[in-house]
Amino acid sequence: MPAEPITIVNVGYRSTNYWVISAGRSRLLVDIGWPGSMGKMRSILKRMDVPLEEIRYTLATHYHIDHAGLAQDFKQAGVPLLLIDVQVEAIPLMKTWIKPVDNYIEIIPEGNVVISCAESRTLLEAIGIPGEVLHTPGHSADSVSLLLDDGSVFTGDLTPPDYVGLEDPHVVAASWHLLWERGASRVYPGHGPTRLMDEPKRGG
Ligand SMILES: [Zn+2]
Repeated sequence: MPAEPITIVNVGYRSTNYWVISAGRSRLLVDIGWPGSMGKMRSILKRMDVPLEEIRYTLATHYHIDHAGLAQDFKQAGVPLLLIDVQVEAIPLMKTWIKPVDNYIEIIPEGNVVISCAESRTLLEAIGIPGEVLHTPGHSADSVSLLLDDGSVFTGDLTPPDYVGLEDPHVVAASWHLLWERGASRVYPGHGPTRLMDEPKRGG
């Protein structure tokens, strides 16, 4: 059977992009909502014609509240959390930024599918999505990017090189170089519009 073509839709809200990547009816949600917003997420998924039960995994690019706030809510709805080993330690820190009024449901280890970046291609292949997860620190130590074989790359909050502030510019540059070398061509960021990927400057 030929592979299903990959489609990408944005189900984001409140200035954060949440990307549904689909191979036919096999889907992956990249970045997982604000805390306490499962009702809003469900209504957008419905409007965008994405049945929740067709989402095979959720994946957070990193564990900041606007990127992983609904991870446990999705688990309770039957969608496992795909967690990269370099991200495990960041989960408990997320609570630091959350107020009781946010209605955050704490992410517990049970039900998480923990893999390394090296294992990601095999897992993604099994759900019909050709690509890999790469560790791309810079914005945060736990930041990962999902790079599809067609060059689409989901970078979360990886800082564009020209906007580096408090981040270590060398770490940010190394992450962009890695993505470029692996064939990234179109950036789907955590905030703002998609853009073509520029070749990273040498040494910059
Ligand atoms: Zn962030």
